[in-house]
Formats: sequence, structure tokens, C-alpha cells
Amino acid sequence: MPDGVPPCVSQAFFVGSRFRRDTRRVPAPIPAAKPHPAISRNTKEAIVILATKQTPTAHTETAPTFGGLALSPETLRAVHRLGWNQPTPIQQQGIPVMAGGKDLIGQAETGSGKTGAYGIPIVERLDPSSRTLQALILAPTRELALQIADDLRALGRERRLSVVAVFGGSSIIRQIEELRARPQIAVATPGRLLDHMQRRTLHLGSVAVLVLDEADRMLDMGFLPDVSKILSQTPPARQTALFSATISPEIHTIAQRWMRTPTWVRIAAPLPTVDSIEQFYLEVAEQDKVKALRRLMRDAGIASGLVFRRTRHRVDRLARSLDREGGVGVLHGGLRESARLRALRAFEEKRTRLLIATNVAARGLDLSNISHVINFDMPEDIETYVHRVGRTARMGRAGTAITFVGQYDIEMFEQLRKKFGEALRRHPLNIYA
Ligand code: AMP
Repeated sequence: MPDGVPPCVSQAFFVGSRFRRDTRRVPAPIPAAKPHPAISRNTKEAIVILATKQTPTAHTETAPTFGGLALSPETLRAVHRLGWNQPTPIQQQGIPVMAGGKDLIGQAETGSGKTGAYGIPIVERLDPSSRTLQALILAPTRELALQIADDLRALGRERRLSVVAVFGGSSIIRQIEELRARPQIAVATPGRLLDHMQRRTLHLGSVAVLVLDEADRMLDMGFLPDVSKILSQTPPARQTALFSATISPEIHTIAQRWMRTPTWVRIAAPLPTVDSIEQFYLEVAEQDKVKALRRLMRDAGIASGLVFRRTRHRVDRLARSLDREGGVGVLHGGLRESARLRALRAFEEKRTRLLIATNVAARGLDLSNISHVINFDMPEDIETYVHRVGRTARMGRAGTAITFVGQYDIEMFEQLRKKFGEALRRHPLNIYA
């Protein structure tokens, strides 16, 4: 459970064998389609419902079909036309919360089906007869915004809802024309949305539902001030949902400032196994961590090291400190797509020896040849630790993880010790000898 999650009622249960088809409510034959990976995987996945004390969720049974989620025939038809036969775990849990008008925080990875988790209740709730902007979805990138807009169009077609995508790097004139047609749903990246607000080509005064999608990536890309500005222009009575793969203290701050007693739904991603990884800790004062990293580069046989820091500013600062060494790449949300790809290619082709990255930027990448993972900054929780160190020792290769423990890291270190016991050993390097 992430740090600082509000006092909660928590309940973990397994789904998997529970999916039954409720044919009574499904209007059309269900097309044969491959199940969503989250469905076929979900026998291993724990679904954890976390609810604040103020909003306890009496959760005994998950709805096994879209038919069981009390959707309108129009939406059911749209869902089945997309080839979605069963709700994914985040959809099973998230749809009833949002359909009930409550604020929601969904912790789920990309690919979990989260667009449907908010998209389905949104298309159900909006009023197609009113030509006002009723739902706003904020997304970090143009690609994601386009993908969300496509899904929402498909979901809302039968209810005749219209959707506009508003993102940078493309003609603003065309977007202004699309906005003039008064769509009910806008999917936007924060920068371009602010641009439209300043030009008065878009008004947020009628927004009833607001979604922050991939909130952790938006923060990693430095969008927090923009997002706050946008939120402040929407009606306080709106419903707010936030989706994020990781829950950092900044996400808690947004939740506290902008959401009303949100219900937490957490879909735990399957954790990689760390059994084959050599795990070390290295006690080193905060101010000596750069020196320790240099010594490791010299003495520890690091062929390809992935170094984690908490923020993009810290990533850049460390890269500058190591500049003289050469062979160092960076990866964080503040980079353009082309720079990210260049950094990845250089690392894969071994032209750089270290890749310094934020958690968020490194998530979902398939880097096959990492010899060492170095936690320069302590991970926020055990789950993040496991995801980070699981990046090494892929495909049965040997891998090593080294976690720096400075004077501010003791609390988290104790948790790691408790969890991994003897498997977490002191690294032989001593920079103070
Ligand atoms: P998302 O996490 O929302 O980006 O969704 C990931 C992919 O899963 C997209 O291609 C969706 O079309 C697909 N998807 C979402 N929900 C379902 C579902 N219930 N069954 C099958 N595929 C789904």
C-alpha cells in the first residue's frame, strides 16, 4: 500500500474463475475476441479496494460482465462492438464508483483498460441534448490524447456524443473550428488547453466530470502548475477522477486539494520476481553519493547501469555531475520523444554505460541488457523497489541491484530489510576506508 494512503478499509480478493457471461442483458451476440491481457492475467492479480473512512465501499462481489454493470443498451452495444467482452479489473471496480458520482483515484498501469473505467460512466452520464462541454480529460501526451479520444468516440457514438482532441504540435485553427461545433467531451494536453482558454476558444464553466489520466507522467513532465490552473477554472461541484500507475506524495497533494473524499481503487500489477537478483545496499551519506557512484563505475564492473532518481531535476543534476565521465544518458518526462528514443538507443547499443532515469520514464520500457540497477534515490515503497530492481536479470541473466542508503533513507531501508532479510547484503565498497 503506498505511503500515506488515507486510513482505509482494505479488502483483497482474487478474481479469475468468477467471470460468467450474463447473456440475459447482452443485446447482441458477443463477438469472439481475445480476452484483454488483464483479464487472462487476473488469477494472479490482487484487486485491492481502498476506501476512505468517509466513503466505505461495501464490496463483496465483483460484477463479472459488462451486463452486470447496469449499463444502458446503447453503451453495452458500443462496448461489445469494440470487442470488449468482459470488464477488466479496473473497469469492474471503477465503473460503479464513477457511475455513482463519486470521486475516484485509480491506481492502474497503462494497458489495464483504464480508459474504459472512466469512459463508460462518462458516456452514460452526459446529456447529449446539451451542446456544452461536460467532460474534460487531461492526458500527458498527444498520442495518449488521440487514443483516448478514439475510445471515447467509439463508446459515445450511439448516444451521439461528440469528442474533440486538443493537443500541441498540430493546427490550432482546426481545433478552434472543432470546438465551435460545441462537443460534449474534450481530451486535452494541458499546455494546448491553456492556450485555448487564453484565446477564449474553450470555456470550462460547464464541466461536470474531469479526469486526470496518467497523472504521474503529467507531473513528471512538469505539468503541475498547468493542471492546477485548469482545475481552478472548472466548477467546484464537478466530479474528479485521477488515474496513475504510481502514487507519489504530489499525487496525494492533488487529491487533497482538488478531490472530495475519493474512493481508491488499486489494481496491483504482477510484481517481477527478484529471486535471481543479487541485492546490495551501500551506506553512503547523501553528499557522498556521487562519489560512491563514480567508485562503483570504476570498480564494480558495471556494463550497463540503470540509475534511478526521484525527479527529473535530480536526474539532470546527477548527469551534469558525471559529465566528465562520459557515457551517461538521461531519461525523464521533460524530454522530447526524439531525445528519449536517442537516449534509449545509445544505451541499448552500449554507447552509454549509465542511464539515469525517473521511475515514471523507465516504466514500461523493455531494456534487455541491464547488468546493474542502482537506486541512487531510495524508492518510495517496496513495490517501486521491486519494479526497479526487476529491470535487471531479465530472461534468466544475472543481475545486480545496489541501493544507496543515506541519512534520510533509514525508514525505508528498515522496510526493505524486513521484507528481504538476508537476501539484501551490505555491498563490499567502502568509500570512507
Ligand atoms: P487502456 O489501458 O485504456 O489504454 O486500454 C488498453 C487496451 O485494452 C486498449 O487497446 C483497449 O481497447 C483494450 N481494452 C480496454 N478494455 C477492454 C476490455 N474490457 N476487453 C478487452 N480489451 C479492452
